Amino acid sequence: MKAILVREFGAAGVMRLEDVPSPSPGPGQVLVGVKAVGVNPVDTYIRSGTYAIKPSLPYTPGADIGGIVEATGVGVTRVTKGDRVYANGTAEGHGGYSEATLCDESQVHLLPDRISFAQGAAVGVPYGTAWRALFLKAKARPGETVLVHGASGGVGIAATQMARAGGLRVIGTAGSDRGLALVREQGAHEVLNHNDADYMSRIMALTAGRGVDVILEMLANINLDRDLEVLALHGRVMIVGNRGRVEIDPRKLMGKDGTVLGMTMFNATAEERRAIHAALGAGLANGTLNPVVGREFPLAQAVDAHGAVMEAGAFGKIVLVPPGA
Ligand code: NAP
Repeated sequence: MKAILVREFGAAGVMRLEDVPSPSPGPGQVLVGVKAVGVNPVDTYIRSGTYAIKPSLPYTPGADIGGIVEATGVGVTRVTKGDRVYANGTAEGHGGYSEATLCDESQVHLLPDRISFAQGAAVGVPYGTAWRALFLKAKARPGETVLVHGASGGVGIAATQMARAGGLRVIGTAGSDRGLALVREQGAHEVLNHNDADYMSRIMALTAGRGVDVILEMLANINLDRDLEVLALHGRVMIVGNRGRVEIDPRKLMGKDGTVLGMTMFNATAEERRAIHAALGAGLANGTLNPVVGREFPLAQAVDAHGAVMEAGAFGKIVLVPPGA
């Protein structure tokens, strides 16, 4: 079968489509035929070799899969051959940029018929992160106001949909007109362009001077200090994304009894993951969660997809489609 292999860390060009042996499931494992695989920013950080997590080489990237169960190992009870599934994570030593891959049973979840495989590939990291950030870490409550600071990409769309469904007032930002239109379509009550000079002051106007209860921050190195100015009393800034250093004035936080939180999905416990995927499964089935796939690339063009995911002007999720999927 075909799979992307990374034999050395470096620029996107280190990803090559190669022929590799098809794996077979061991006890507790599931062989998933990959119909689509999500491209996450973290895939590019890991591939570059500069990220805290470094897989042993060679490796196949990709954690988020939409596909069909092709075979199950001894002891697997939650899914059976032919099931439509999404997977969040793969078994040690395997990856999703491939025609098929191995997952541990706990990583595989049933995909409702109303959700396409490409949408399934947009669920795991983005929706899992948004849920954990919003509800488990920032403890957002119905009736509160959330600023989804970077709402046009994978995590932001997910956060917008689930916050809206959960009874929060949602202010979402994007950096392009079509991104702003998309964020509004996904349920944001208000949208602002994070490239406009005065957009942060408009947040105070939109909240009658009170500020926002929760900020889901996708680019903390740019925004964190100004976030503290638009935080309501007892507000929480939840850092999801960051690409550099930042200077803040802690006094702004003191005056609000505010909290700055950080998180990475790699720290999610098994119990949190069970809760998250139960919630996501329910939302995908009842129509409140609808992943948006902005672009599909053939698996052979993984290099281009890694370029695209780091460009400005996000429009939902980027996925790769293996040959014959
Ligand atoms: P994505 O699909 O590439 O979206 C990136 C988002 O950031 C877009 O909405 C983009 O808006 C926005 N953005 C760009 N400039 C911004 C600015 N100045 N202020 C606020 N937002 C801005 O990426 P993603 O998958 O949603 O992930 C978002 C970030 O979270 C990435 O840095 C990623 O590495 C990180 N992340 C962290 C975790 C974790 O476990 N902590 C998990 C998943 C993702 P425009 O393109 O419209 O300008």
